[in-house]
Amino acid sequence: APVVVVLDGPAGTGKSTVSREIAARLGLSFLDTGAMYRAVTYWMLANEVDVDDVDAVALASDKPAVVSGTDADGPTITVDGVDVSGPIREQAVTAAVSAVSAVPEVRTRMVELQRASALAAPRGIVAEGRDMGTVVFPRADLKVFLTASAETRAARRAAQLGITDAGEITAILVDINRRDAADSGRATAPLRKADDAVEVDTSEMSPEQVVTHIIGLVRD
Ligand code: C5P
Repeated sequence: APVVVVLDGPAGTGKSTVSREIAARLGLSFLDTGAMYRAVTYWMLANEVDVDDVDAVALASDKPAVVSGTDADGPTITVDGVDVSGPIREQAVTAAVSAVSAVPEVRTRMVELQRASALAAPRGIVAEGRDMGTVVFPRADLKVFLTASAETRAARRAAQLGITDAGEITAILVDINRRDAADSGRATAPLRKADDAVEVDTSEMSPEQVVTHIIGLVRD
């Protein structure tokens, strides 16, 4: 049967990099579910939906056509047929995504798409996000929960974005803490470790060490 491996955890734990590499090495598909919530958020902003108005977001939730290409060697994300892989990383989207992803109607729709992606994956899938192990794939073959100190996570995000200014790194840290609090505190599908997930603290590990460790867990 196709294998389902899930990685959850807060922002900046290296989930995307590590998940994609694991998928590539094991010949599995790869799904970045954060990119899907970002794509919906991008659409809401582009269409002038007030992202703090829960009813307005709920009402518009079935409008954006989000499609994730799950090839681990070149994942893609489009909304209404337009490639949004660049714009979804912009600050305006990052600032608004927690509010949009807290709306139950948005989540219902994304969960359907995520399960459909797994069903369509020929050999199986590595899916990463916040609620993969708790909500979307409760029967996953392997559940991993990645953690790292907030400082480590801020430093990684900064490095990813090419930022070296101390003040800007502090701003990233503040934003990461705000997003963690929002993602953990929301009523629907809050960020938390599934009871049967293996916790891996990546603070002192290189991406390669994390990849090797998790592939070892898959093979066990
Ligand atoms: O992983 P990334 O930082 O790109 O995720 C962006 C946001 O999308 C998260 O802060 C969270 O609000 C939301 N998200 C979610 N559920 C997921 C993945 C992401 O709510 N499975």
